[in-house]
Amino acid sequence: MQKFESRVIVVGGGVTGTGVLRDLAMRGANTLLFERDNLAAGTSGNFHGLLHSGGRYAVTDPTAAVECIQENTILRRIAPQAIEDTGGFFVVMDDVDEAFLPKFVEGCARAGIPTEAMSGDEARKLEPDLSPAVRQAVTVPDASVDGYTLCAGNVASARALGSRSLLYTTVTEVLREGKRVVGVRARDKSGEEIEARAEIVVNATGAWSGRFAQMAGVTIKMTPNKGAMIVLDGRPMKRVINRCRKPGDGDIVVPVGTTVVLGTTSVNIEDPDHYKIEEWEIDKILTEGIEMVPKIEQMRMQRTYGGVRPLYKPPSEGGDEGREISRSFFVLDHAKLDGVEGLISIVGGKLTTYRQMAERTADAVCAKLGVAAPCRTADEPLPTGA
Ligand SMILES: Cc1cc2nc3c(=O)[nH]c(=O)nc-3n(C[C@H](O)[C@H](O)[C@H](O)COP(=O)(O)OP(=O)(O)OC[C@H]3O[C@@H](n4cnc5c(N)ncnc54)[C@H](O)[C@@H]3O)c2cc1C
Repeated sequence: MQKFESRVIVVGGGVTGTGVLRDLAMRGANTLLFERDNLAAGTSGNFHGLLHSGGRYAVTDPTAAVECIQENTILRRIAPQAIEDTGGFFVVMDDVDEAFLPKFVEGCARAGIPTEAMSGDEARKLEPDLSPAVRQAVTVPDASVDGYTLCAGNVASARALGSRSLLYTTVTEVLREGKRVVGVRARDKSGEEIEARAEIVVNATGAWSGRFAQMAGVTIKMTPNKGAMIVLDGRPMKRVINRCRKPGDGDIVVPVGTTVVLGTTSVNIEDPDHYKIEEWEIDKILTEGIEMVPKIEQMRMQRTYGGVRPLYKPPSEGGDEGREISRSFFVLDHAKLDGVEGLISIVGGKLTTYRQMAERTADAVCAKLGVAAPCRTADEPLPTGA
């Protein structure tokens, strides 16, 4: 059995876990990361590809909206290699959208999201394939973003500082000594067993966080929530196109590379490893996309894919349906919640806000370790490549 020792162990090689790895390494805390697959193999490589401006949440989820615009601004500065600055439109197409518009513009102003309103004709001059039914459009600083590039940059940065990551290595057991978590056991693809010990273990397993918590003998009630996406062959527009209304199914079109990605849906599921994309999801996403950009009807569908949102709702808050749960995030200290020392979970959030999630998690870890170094991830550019 291989043995490792480090100050911190992070489990999960998505944006959140690799973000925590980088942040801790930059503060001088030697950290070891485990990922059961490749980097970004979970939700961070199977999401819609939108660097949110926060506009989507400006009316219904104002905390998440503020987090998104703050991090949108920071990520453009530190990780331009992962971002294409497409810009975005929220489009008004019917009376329901029109009634939503003033609330939307107000919400954006409150969150600090810059907007500019224009007529449908002005919008079509910039995006000729927008539907003739678009009455008005509002610009927002949306962009498209690549999750793998962020994960790889985080790992490269941490590695240069002496921290390590073990990919294709599944954590199978959480080691406890009485009321304290002291490390993990894991198995790599060849079947070799690994034991790693640390002062703190961070659970950054996203939609799998509830399952990981069980291994540590604590309970986290996650709401894994599936969404489907469709990749089209071609890119008829430059900008992200969002429908200007309360978030719903199929209401965003994101240009990604030479394609566009239509999405998405929101369905609570039991098991993030076993779900399927259903026909109604494809129909709904296509119908909504075609309404905003009619040309989509003539385009070839390249493929469909799905991802699982790591939604978390504090026990005191109501509303269990996926769209009702906030996209904000929570750092859970299991010493305070369950009387189990040495374990911190980071749950909820968005890909867009991963850096801030990692910062808050690293703050909690450093407070326990007695590390006083401040967070520097908002200022230091992310390197390219893993
Ligand atoms: C359909 C959909 C669309 C979305 N669109 C957007 C969007 O456009 N913009 C945006 O900002 N956000 C979006 N999100 C949200 C965003 O993608 C997620 O919030 C984010 O990627 C979660 O990252 P994470 O690192 O927390 O989780 P993940 O990326 O899932 O990482 C967790 C990792 O833990 C690993 N793991 C689990 N168990 C173990 C174990 N026992 N041992 C080792 N490793 C383990 C998994 O393999 C996984 O790689 C979307 C989500 C979905 C589902």
